[in-house]
Amino acid sequence: MRLDGMHHITMITGDAQRAIDFYAGLLGLRLVKQTVNFDAPEAYHLYFGDEHGTPGSILTWFEFRGAQPGRAGAGMVHTIELGVAGRTALDFWEQRLGEHGHACDRASRDSLKLADPDGLSLELVTADPRNPALNARHEAISDGNAIMGVEGARAYISRPLQTDAPLLTDTLGFTEADTGGGYLLEGHSRRFRWTYEPTGQHGLQGAGTVHHIAWHSADGDHLAWRERISSAGLAVTPVIDRDYFHSIYIRQPQGILFEIATTSPGFAIDEDPGHLGERLCLPTQHEHLRPRLERTLTPLHNPRATTTLTDQAGGR
Ligand code: ZN
Repeated sequence: MRLDGMHHITMITGDAQRAIDFYAGLLGLRLVKQTVNFDAPEAYHLYFGDEHGTPGSILTWFEFRGAQPGRAGAGMVHTIELGVAGRTALDFWEQRLGEHGHACDRASRDSLKLADPDGLSLELVTADPRNPALNARHEAISDGNAIMGVEGARAYISRPLQTDAPLLTDTLGFTEADTGGGYLLEGHSRRFRWTYEPTGQHGLQGAGTVHHIAWHSADGDHLAWRERISSAGLAVTPVIDRDYFHSIYIRQPQGILFEIATTSPGFAIDEDPGHLGERLCLPTQHEHLRPRLERTLTPLHNPRATTTLTDQAGGR
């Protein structure tokens, strides 16, 4: 039984439309679902990813309108690494971001650092060639330059790792990388680089911070993962139906919230796969709130909804 890399990472934004304009409009991800927070249905929950919202490509945001900027600190993910094909693609992104007036830093020939409009740190890196390209289509971005999925993430911790390592290695199946604080989650179809870095800084949850990170379980292994974690003496939630996947949650010893999410049913369960993310989808238990939510939620514009992209399978 192996976790298949990362499933999704969830952040907080203060402005849903600004996040859409940045991640879908500028970075070229696909907005694959407009829904609301299960626990706070008056707040948007947006999912971005490749064309299908494949695990490993998914980044999601809770919108808390006007939320104050947060600050990454101990027990929080602070940087997300997005994969691209290589240096030529990094050149493309350096130019594209510049042309759109978005600051970025070519930290080295193999890395481009930037912050999203909420202040979240992102780094474009060369993707592991063993990771299949999970990219969306965008009229201004060729497949060769596109963001190909999430390669890794870096989190802050305040204490030495000894007490945490057993959860990662013995229970969840990560392997220790040769660099300090680095771990690798090697799944059947994807690998993910997970890095701990020390800090003395306390975090503050707010706009531009990461709320949790989810690892990807095969559907048939999900209950066994719950059993394994529970047997290791860790508190784990019951299985929760998140409509697009099933989830369990555990708190990593230094405070990072881990989720383990299934592959199925996926984002096409309540929308035509050709029109993902173009309308508000509500969880069944909140469907009765639709008239009110459609009045109170700020309408969002998905750039894909009005862009005609001819299907040039294999042609780009
Ligand atoms: Zn989640």
